[in-house]
Parts: sequence; C-alpha cells; structure tokens
Amino acid sequence: MIRFEAVTKRFGSHTVLDALDMKVYPGKHVTLIGPSGSGKTTILRLMMTLLKPDEGTIKLGDRYLTHEDKGGKLVPASDRYSREIRKNIGMVFQQFNLFPNMKVLRNITEAPVHVLGMDKDAAEQRARELLDLVGLTAHLDKYPSQLSGGQQQRVAIARALAMRPQVLLLDEVTSALDPELVAGVLDLLRDIAHSTDITMLCVTHEMNFARDISDCVMMFDAGRVIEFGPPEQIFTAPEHERTREFLSAVR
Ligand code: ADP
Repeated sequence: MIRFEAVTKRFGSHTVLDALDMKVYPGKHVTLIGPSGSGKTTILRLMMTLLKPDEGTIKLGDRYLTHEDKGGKLVPASDRYSREIRKNIGMVFQQFNLFPNMKVLRNITEAPVHVLGMDKDAAEQRARELLDLVGLTAHLDKYPSQLSGGQQQRVAIARALAMRPQVLLLDEVTSALDPELVAGVLDLLRDIAHSTDITMLCVTHEMNFARDISDCVMMFDAGRVIEFGPPEQIFTAPEHERTREFLSAVR
C-alpha cells in the first residue's frame, strides 16, 4: 500500500532520510520508533505531500505520490495531482488541528462535503456514526475549545476516518495530551486498529501501544531503518545495540 524507494530528504546540508526503502502492505499497522530527530515525522510529512523528496519515489497503492506517469514517463507531481491523491490519506497530528470556528459535527463533515463532494445529509449521517464510535455524540454541537484535549483528539480521529482513507497516518497523537487523557485515545485507536482493515502508519513513543497494535515495528536511527520485525521480536529480542539502548531509555 505504501512504498518508499531510495527516498532521500535533505534540509540544507543535513540528510534526514538517506536512500530509504520501506514497504507497508495493505491493512497492516506499522509503527515507527526511534530517537527524536531520526526522520520519523519527515516520513509522514512526505506521505502527506507536505514535503517533496530530493531523490527517490513514493507510491500509494499502484500510483506514485511523488510523480505523475505521463505516457510512460515519470515527471514530478503537480500540486493538483498531489491534492487529488492526498484524498486517500488521513492524518492525525499531535496538536489536533481542528477548525476552531466550526462545531464538532461540521469539523467532520467539512472535507467529505467540500473535498469529496459528498451529499451534506450523507456526510452528517456518517459523522454521527463516527462520533458514536469515538464516544462523543453528546458533544457534536460544541466548539473544539469547549472540549478536553483527549476529546479534541478523538474528534480529529473521527475527522480523518470520515474521508474513508486507504491509509491513516498518526503522528505522536498522544504527546500533547495530559497524562490522564492518553489511555482513552490509545484505547480508541486500538479498537480502530483491531476492527478495521485500514492501513496504519504510526509514529509513537508509547511502546505498549506500539506492541498492541503493530504488525510490524520499524526502528529508525539517523534516517535509516536499522531493524524491523513483529513487535514481540523488536521489544523482547532486539538484535541491534541501538534498539536496545533506545528501548531501555524510553521504558
Ligand atoms: P523525528 O520525527 O524522528 O523526531 P523529524 O522527522 O521530525 O524526526 O526530523 C528529522 C530531522 O530533520 C531533525 O534533525 C529536524 O531538526 C530536521 N527537520 C525537520 N523538518 C525540518 C525543516 N522543515 N527544516 C529543517 N530541518 C528540519
């Protein structure tokens, strides 16, 4: 579903990703772990087409994210093409990023109606189902500022799912939350991971969560995957010294 081939990303003279190869199979839940600054968020931002790679290609399913196929020749993707393909990707950020001037229900219906052209009533019905899933039906008529951080993050998750994306990207979705609100959001994501076949790519510092939801854990260091495998292998029998050091520092 996701394929990075020889992706290099530099900021000035700093090479953040160095000829990265990575694959995520359909329906799989993959977690990226590793020290701060190792390039994990850059991967999600490249997927969202918020950044462009300096070299290499990224594919979503059988289409390139980074390039357009013009008569068998690959040319860099135009902004219009990127916007089109991005509709298939949902992202939840650390800082929720809800629309502050829209009530909860409208936060969820806005993109399905205006980006996908969905009928307003159908979008509202879907939004109500999603609010039920995330346990916020009683709050649909409130503004984001009237909700706790955990509730806002659950709205952000519902909003991402409303687009019926092929892929859900989660960028440290609990790191801006008060500690007592973290468990509720992680429980919801566990439910979604276990009850849907959506492909998920997560960056997280919550190792127990990574262990519970992941089919595969990838350990990053300095822009490279140094080790990957099922969570039981990475968390109980890591092969690489850097992985062992990292895990003992975060646990
Ligand atoms: P992680 O998510 O693993 O903490 P990031 O992908 O956020 O790492 O960042 C990797 C490196 O890229 C860091 O050294 C960071 O400072 C640098 N970086 C990220 N975004 C930018 C940017 N827009 N301009 C310059 N440097 C950046």
